Amino acid sequence: MKFQEITVCLDMHGCPNRCKHCWLSATPNGNMPFSEIESTAEQFRPFTDCLQIYDWYREPDFTEKYREHFEICSRLSDSPLDHFEVASFWRLARDGGYGKWLASLGLKKIQLTLFGDARTTDFYIGRKGAYQELLKAMDILMENKISPRIQVFVIRNNIDQLGHIENLIKELNLENRCRAYGGEFTFFLHQGSCDGENEKWYDAWVTPEDLGKIPPLLEAYTLRHFGAKNIADVFGRTEQSLYEELITDASTASYVSDTPVFYIDKDFNVYPNISTPAPHWLLGNLKQDGVRTVLENYVENKSAAQHTRMTVPLCELAKAQGDGTSRRLFGRGDYIELLLNRYCRQRNLY
Ligand code: SF4
Repeated sequence: MKFQEITVCLDMHGCPNRCKHCWLSATPNGNMPFSEIESTAEQFRPFTDCLQIYDWYREPDFTEKYREHFEICSRLSDSPLDHFEVASFWRLARDGGYGKWLASLGLKKIQLTLFGDARTTDFYIGRKGAYQELLKAMDILMENKISPRIQVFVIRNNIDQLGHIENLIKELNLENRCRAYGGEFTFFLHQGSCDGENEKWYDAWVTPEDLGKIPPLLEAYTLRHFGAKNIADVFGRTEQSLYEELITDASTASYVSDTPVFYIDKDFNVYPNISTPAPHWLLGNLKQDGVRTVLENYVENKSAAQHTRMTVPLCELAKAQGDGTSRRLFGRGDYIELLLNRYCRQRNLY
């Protein structure tokens, strides 16, 4: 059993936030020993010639030892490890050296998430003071010539807040401030995938009728970010249209890839990076089952969700879990995963 590339992400310390849209779910924070990075890498290494290892999959650089963690992950990875264009705004607001360190890695853009004004953003991030920290984080990033890329998750409950965000972008003069050092301010909005915590907002999911509330400036930024012609392409199709397509589709599918990404939670449970790390996606426990069993379970589609997708036709998933009258908007893949997650949970498939 050999893969072209394996990426392993350890949830070593969790996250300071509890975002109400978090597709990774709100699970307790852990405290994995530093040594687990190396021992995990060595367990997966025989199964690929290209291993990439990260010490996080929720909040990057949440640990005090973020520099050491990044160095050891880089050393243990087979190709140069890029720091993704995401960062901890929690740390940016508290750690004077963090912005400089991000800049030293060559980062030019960092993504930050807003939901609206201070009250709304604090509510959706699940932590009082988060909005003010985000504003501070933007200043620190720009001082270090890193341009903020603002992301907004939109549901019916916060769509009226977009005017506030448009004003904020103008008041903070983000375009010109980034341009002054040769950077580029970017922005996008979308509904996100309907899994993890975000699935709880299904009832408030946006419909085509809601898209008219998006301010033109934010729409223009979003189209540029996605390279899309119109905003409907960004938000996808109505559930009704997807349902009508899937209800006649008898296909099944395998999620197995030659370049898998695995998420390992604080208790060493391993999940494929396909949807939220939920019990029906569990491949096994690294400590109890060992890496070979975990990888065999992946390749043989043995997690309950993979097995269901391999054996239950789309038309059955749609019939059991879909709503043929709903105008909620989804990407096709995200909608199939919503149906699959619901199907597994309702039947207690683990
Ligand atoms: S969305 Fe990101 S920052 Fe928010 S709770 Fe999830 S992992 Fe943490």
